[in-house]
Amino acid sequence: MLIPSLFVKRAGDYAPPVFPEIRKGEIGITWIGHASFLIQTSEVNILIDPNWSKWLSVIKRLKKPGFEIHHLPEIDFVLVTHAHFDHLDRRTLRKVAADQPIVVPIGVGNLVHDLGFHIVHELDYWQTIKLGPIEVSLTPCYHWGARFLADLHRGFGGFAVTVDGRTIFHCGDSAFFPGFREIGEHYKIDIALLPIGAYEPISGREVHMNPEEAVKAFIELKAKTLVPMHYGSFRLSFEPLHEPLERLQSAAREHGIQDKMLVMTEGKPVVV
Ligand SMILES: [Zn+2]
Ligand SMILES: [Zn+2]
Repeated sequence: MLIPSLFVKRAGDYAPPVFPEIRKGEIGITWIGHASFLIQTSEVNILIDPNWSKWLSVIKRLKKPGFEIHHLPEIDFVLVTHAHFDHLDRRTLRKVAADQPIVVPIGVGNLVHDLGFHIVHELDYWQTIKLGPIEVSLTPCYHWGARFLADLHRGFGGFAVTVDGRTIFHCGDSAFFPGFREIGEHYKIDIALLPIGAYEPISGREVHMNPEEAVKAFIELKAKTLVPMHYGSFRLSFEPLHEPLERLQSAAREHGIQDKMLVMTEGKPVVV
């Protein structure tokens, strides 16, 4: 006799997400986990820093991606902020590649070209490219871009994506720096995806923001909605995994911006 429970799938885990219909002027956001997002507009689907890997070399992913990679809708454009392993995941990119254009910072193109992306746009800071209905600009940040040790020529940044008069900003990785104010002057940002984790670095280098700095950056950016990211999936530094969000929430209360926070759950699409 068969034991039925053996064949019952674990609740929630494998349920394909229901991606909403996006109307003109709306932006659909689905957090995949860490710095990975699916951004949907009425016309196109965009992936930023897609990463479905279970391991980053020896670092284990502690939280599953929000949905499985084969549940993705057709992807029109891919954006990668920099060459670090948690953002540029060659295994994932190989699966996503379907000859759609990919946008990367200067010096990163050769890491994605051989994966099946033949239209590679390398951008410099403030450079903008028009891809169908969207405009993508590379924004500066305070970080570094080498994937190993010697490849210091690789660029790094964030992206401002404008569509139907609305702008979503993916910060990439960054320490707090005066550039946020400048980015806020360049673009009218509706949604800011800001990293809040990996601030107690094993290296001791200041290359990531802590949650209080992310709130400060959000205020300087003059954005309308703050979506926190870059926490909870990979233990990249010493802070406990639950700490970034708790600290962000109390910093947000302190600055009276708690109503502007949109804390996302992996795999649950939100239309803004
Ligand atoms: Zn990085
Ligand atoms: Zn990172």
